Amino acid sequence: MPEKVRVRFAPSPTGSLHIGGARTALFNLLYARHNNGKLILRIEDTDTERSTEESTLQILRSLKWLGLDWDEGPEKGGDFGPYFQSQRLDLYKKEVDGLLAEEKAYYCYCTPEELSQRREEALKAGKPPKYDGCCRKLTPEQRKKFEAEGRKHTIRLKMPEEGQTVVDDLIRGRVVFDNSVLDDLIIVKSNGIPTYNFACVIDDNAMKITHIIRAEEHLSNTPKQVQAYLALGYDIPQFAHVPMILAPDRSKLSKRHGATSVEEFRDQGYMAESIINYLTLLGWSPEGTEEIFDMEKAIKEFTLDRVNKTAAVYDVKKLTWINGHYMREMDLGYVTEQTIPFMIKKGIITEQESKDKFDYIKKIVEVSRDRAKTLDELAHTVAFFFKDVTEYEEKGVRKHFSKENAVKLLTLGADALEKLDHFTHDKTEETFRNITADLGLKAAEIIHPTRLAITGRTIGPGLFDIIVLLGKEKTVERMRKAVKWIGARHQSY
Ligand code: GLU
Ligand code: ZN
Repeated sequence: MPEKVRVRFAPSPTGSLHIGGARTALFNLLYARHNNGKLILRIEDTDTERSTEESTLQILRSLKWLGLDWDEGPEKGGDFGPYFQSQRLDLYKKEVDGLLAEEKAYYCYCTPEELSQRREEALKAGKPPKYDGCCRKLTPEQRKKFEAEGRKHTIRLKMPEEGQTVVDDLIRGRVVFDNSVLDDLIIVKSNGIPTYNFACVIDDNAMKITHIIRAEEHLSNTPKQVQAYLALGYDIPQFAHVPMILAPDRSKLSKRHGATSVEEFRDQGYMAESIINYLTLLGWSPEGTEEIFDMEKAIKEFTLDRVNKTAAVYDVKKLTWINGHYMREMDLGYVTEQTIPFMIKKGIITEQESKDKFDYIKKIVEVSRDRAKTLDELAHTVAFFFKDVTEYEEKGVRKHFSKENAVKLLTLGADALEKLDHFTHDKTEETFRNITADLGLKAAEIIHPTRLAITGRTIGPGLFDIIVLLGKEKTVERMRKAVKWIGARHQSY
């Protein structure tokens, strides 16, 4: 029976979860689910200076918000915990002691200054700037002397000096590294804490990880880790290095390209489902040309051989397009729930109102969601349902309020709507059409100024949908207010 698939996402909590990390987590999850395996979440917090609790919480929050549920790890537990590297130091120590006893590892007393000096000298002499292995053969006396001097030590793993380390990467194929370029790997830092490359190997083995799916930037670490596996006598898992994500200008994606963290996207009004869909296609291609891939469908189709070998280029326009799609197509109640926090944040409604008027808000979202690409934009465009119109879009004023007919039609429209008993879409529309038909005008002549009067804008959902949802009283009131406003404006000319 083939081994049960176990993959892991192993973030370092030194900042928020970025889209690159989220994509790595997603690919791991898709691979795990596709293969009926398990996703393990491990927090790599051995860099005590840069790791923070706040980052850990933020990463967990982002993963949960995206729906990237792990099977074992923080908050979940599991048989292979603890899942924080900072709580696994004893385990690392045991392995270090074993390597030292077997003389596969050794103490290195070189100071950072000495190391950099020797590196420079090597460079000058045209040699590779590699650790020269000078502490490999220290005698017990020499060691004692260094200790007596109060020198600190790191612990290094002896690397083979000849031959090659071959990585059969599931995405990139065979990658060959010359062992001659490998430095004797520091496995324990001078502060006694193991390095990433070492702790990672011990944990991946201890947690029975079968496939290491991670960012391409770690590919250069892989031969070092493979050597650590060999030294420790562990089975080597399969590796799959996912190509980089580049900015549209093909430079490294960074802050200056706009939002990069998952929480920033969330706050800008992107739905988790859209981000997942977008990230699924960022470096992975399905068989067909379809762009809409929800998680369920992605799980069914995801295989590593369809992960691209070349870098993926990040494109916020595509994400926005996908987001618009999900906003239109997803369950109305769900989209409404997602929009409400943005409305509250903008002061359009209160928390209490969001509960009391939920069904009303839902109807508003129903008629408005086609036009918005983000939840934030949607919240912005529905504000007029709750807030009085205090200004009119300037270009609309010029186009629709300056015509002679505007005052006349708005007045006729308000008068007629006021008398209407059945305030429905069809009745209000019929009323407006009758008014313009009687005057030999097109319906647009009344529709445009009315829209501007009751929403303050020139574009938006269907006018009669708005009128009905806004209700007779507010509609009429706003139309009359616009009439006054136009009058006052003309006087002041
Ligand atoms: N802690 C590493 C990182 O955040 C994980 C690398 C790996 O997946 O092996 O990049
Ligand atoms: Zn040394």
